Amino acid sequence: MDAAAASRLCTACGLCCSGVLFEIVKLQPEDSIRDLEKLGMQINRKKTEPYFKQPCRFLDDCTCTIYQHRPTRCCRFECFQLKLLAAGEIDEAKAQSKIDEARRRVAGIQSRLEKAGDTRTEDSLTERVERALSSLPDESMKAEMRALKIYLERHFRTLALSTHCES
Ligand code: SF4
Ligand code: SF4
Repeated sequence: MDAAAASRLCTACGLCCSGVLFEIVKLQPEDSIRDLEKLGMQINRKKTEPYFKQPCRFLDDCTCTIYQHRPTRCCRFECFQLKLLAAGEIDEAKAQSKIDEARRRVAGIQSRLEKAGDTRTEDSLTERVERALSSLPDESMKAEMRALKIYLERHFRTLALSTHCES
């Protein structure tokens, strides 16, 4: 893995922290809830597995402000683009283009939400879209969100490495 390239990609992306790829992050037994709470993390302890909500409050633009202390799952997560990069199946430019396209799609949906009067950016994109659609059916927004989810599933969440990559 080209660590510098991965770092450049992540700091231009933030999709796994911004409430786009995930709605929550579950904490692991090795995470110290007390230490994370001291940093200011709001942890939901009500369920058997404690978790915190996304968008993460520690994301500043595309940078994690508690990087050295981030929870286990944050340390371990690698999206499909980073896996492909590490395997040498794509170069940085190809990964960046996938990130750019995902962010372009997200921005389009966010713009629709703002026009619909939803300013609750503290909620995940899915929550915001579901709320907007429940009060005002919008087939275009619904279609854009569906297309975004397919795109994210295909280019960011997929775990298995294919032997060839499409362009
Ligand atoms: S989605 Fe991938 S490239 Fe983007 S910040 Fe997360 S790990 Fe980095
Ligand atoms: S703690 Fe850092 S790495 Fe984890 S979700 Fe928040 S911003 Fe992202």
